[in-house]
Amino acid sequence: MEIYLDSNATTRVLPSAQRAALAVMTNDFGNPSSTHSSGLRSRAVLDSVRATARRVMGASRGRLLFTSGATEGIHTAVLSALSSLRRRFADIDARPNLLLYGATEHKAVPEAIAHWNELLGLDLEILAIPVGRDGRHDLHWLQACSKRAALVCTMAANNETGVISDLDGIAEALQGSPALWMVDSVQALGKLPLRLDDLPIDYAPCSGHKLFAPKGVGLLYVRDGAPLTPVFTGGGQEDRLRAGTENMAGIAALGAVLLAIEDGTTFHPWSKLADFRSELVTALRGAFPGLELNAPLDSSLPTTLNFSVPGLSSKLLLDLFDSAGLRVSGGSACSASKALPSYVLEAMGLPEWQTASAVRLSFDAMATSQMIVEACTRIRSCGESLRSSCLTPEPSECLMPPELVTRFSVDGACCYLVADPATRRCVVIDPLPELTEQLAHWFKCRCYILAAALDTHSHGDHASSAQALREALPALLSEAYDCDPLGWPVGVEAISLGQHRLTRLAVPGHTQDSTAYLLHQGSTLSFTFVGDTVMPGALGRSDFEQSAPLAFGPSLRKLEEAVGRESLLLPGHDHDSRLACTLRTEAAAQPLLHAVLTEKMEPNEFCIAKAHLERDIAPTGYQTMACGARADTCQNQESVELSPHELKKLLAGVNHPLLADVREAFEQRFGLPPEFDVQVRRQAVPISTVVNAFANWLAQRQTPLVFFCRSGNRSAQVARALRRLGHAQAWSLEGGLALWPVATPERADPRLARTQL
Ligand code: PLP
Repeated sequence: MEIYLDSNATTRVLPSAQRAALAVMTNDFGNPSSTHSSGLRSRAVLDSVRATARRVMGASRGRLLFTSGATEGIHTAVLSALSSLRRRFADIDARPNLLLYGATEHKAVPEAIAHWNELLGLDLEILAIPVGRDGRHDLHWLQACSKRAALVCTMAANNETGVISDLDGIAEALQGSPALWMVDSVQALGKLPLRLDDLPIDYAPCSGHKLFAPKGVGLLYVRDGAPLTPVFTGGGQEDRLRAGTENMAGIAALGAVLLAIEDGTTFHPWSKLADFRSELVTALRGAFPGLELNAPLDSSLPTTLNFSVPGLSSKLLLDLFDSAGLRVSGGSACSASKALPSYVLEAMGLPEWQTASAVRLSFDAMATSQMIVEACTRIRSCGESLRSSCLTPEPSECLMPPELVTRFSVDGACCYLVADPATRRCVVIDPLPELTEQLAHWFKCRCYILAAALDTHSHGDHASSAQALREALPALLSEAYDCDPLGWPVGVEAISLGQHRLTRLAVPGHTQDSTAYLLHQGSTLSFTFVGDTVMPGALGRSDFEQSAPLAFGPSLRKLEEAVGRESLLLPGHDHDSRLACTLRTEAAAQPLLHAVLTEKMEPNEFCIAKAHLERDIAPTGYQTMACGARADTCQNQESVELSPHELKKLLAGVNHPLLADVREAFEQRFGLPPEFDVQVRRQAVPISTVVNAFANWLAQRQTPLVFFCRSGNRSAQVARALRRLGHAQAWSLEGGLALWPVATPERADPRLARTQL
């Protein structure tokens, strides 16, 4: 059973709202502007819903328009306020020149302000109203600026944190101000009394889908006398203030929800919701030691929790919760390449680690005790799961031995942990500052010894955190030795890790001290850690002060001599998640590398060609410094996706595929779906350790490999990486487990499920 804890994003539709929508779609489907009986019945529905909304919103006066949602309401309010300025203040010198919005507003608000300010050619100054650590507006600041403000926008309750604004305080601060006041009431309607008759609020937009009505319907309250300019004109609906035939299904559904709010028996009272929240907080604190709540509970909605856990990214927690069937969301916005810190938490002045790793958990006012109990049980299991993967500091009893190589990645930079279970010795290569805490947990929890913390070069984009890692470990877990600046033990030729040996090879170029580390088992070369010398799609840049550009070409040839063209290289940066490469793949992708390896290009010639490539390197997609100029001519983005239907066909064929789950162990602990009627060969290979399986898979290229994960992203990365390495039959299960058909009537077709998402 899935437990939905993301109600601030959207809610399910109340059964009575579904029935009301169905009734107007099947029976009373007339156009409310028609004057015949069908139209009149529709008009009656419209009028009745508006009347209910007035009672629920405490707005006996003023206008109440039906909109498509809050974004439209916000735009209408902002357009109305700004377009009326010239009329309201004919004297240009007396015209207020500030547009103010709360620093934690939903993005729709500042975007609408900037949009209409530009479109109307007003060129007014737009300022964010600062908030305190508690997420509430700085009322002194507001009061000081209010005399010059034309528009002030302050939400009633915040969608990320649940923080409730002090609307009475804001009203007081705005006394005597010429500003029109908009209060985004999306997260407040149904949870807090809006008191629109009592407060001098000019505009209050609301949204149906946050409140058990369907998406595509909303309300905009406009105070009597406040300017109102339609965004749409046309057929004259809504008293000519919002043209377009009304969304009657949505409006009828919203009406049913408003009736339920008014009736007071459908939704839990505040105190009950606060009890639910306390239960969840207790479970969360027990599961994740050190957890910090990002907003004070006593001034927040009882249905919203926003928290961060030290050392755990929100991406990791979301994957974990999702595997446990708990649907929560990141408290920060995720772009394709990077999880951006939450601007809401940043505005509140929270430390960087908290803003970048927040998780929001929000439930609705119809949550049941049974659901909360089950959610708490699963939260506790999530904590246990992390402990069993050594992602929290406490030791765990049921540990699987680690794989030879574990890969960590932060914004495209890679760090590797090489572990030998027999001797319990480990080497960390290119430790990253962001990982110190996580790596320290790993060592403490498993009682492994850090034999060396090595860097492949002196990094340009971050300081080595080798020393910090040693300091984070108890003396017993870190071998003491004299080492060179890259961490290599002085006087030692090879670091032994049980049956494996690590040796080094100087490859100056990217930097003078660039070094590759070769990991052998007997005479077999398992991996070479090449730092930024060779990366998937790029050679390390050599235009730094500490670079050795003339030595780069000879170093590449030396590397080829030592490791050959086919052995697996693990890079220091991997912006496209290629995971591993070989000199063969890179020579095929990068003409310059091909030239230097095959045509024996002169070092000087190589230097000039490389400098040309690097003449204006842009920052990476993560906005970090690029460590090499991209020269990947193989923009081969062929599809690797396999639909569930195609997978079933593949399973029925003669060449049986291997199905590999690339979710992390802490996610896999909650089960290894999907289920099949036939026997299937399966392998659990978390993406962080998947490179260990590459050599084996590449040796059996006739076996189709089908990877899956939660959403299809990680599995597509692994499939693409293997294709690039030459395995033509590597696939990713389309849409991941999220779209895998579950045998319930409404989810029978995965494509249907995709549309629903
Ligand atoms: N304002 C707030 C506070 C919200 O939470 C949202 C939705 O996330 C919006 C505005 C936008 O609402 P809609 O999706 O109805 O346009």
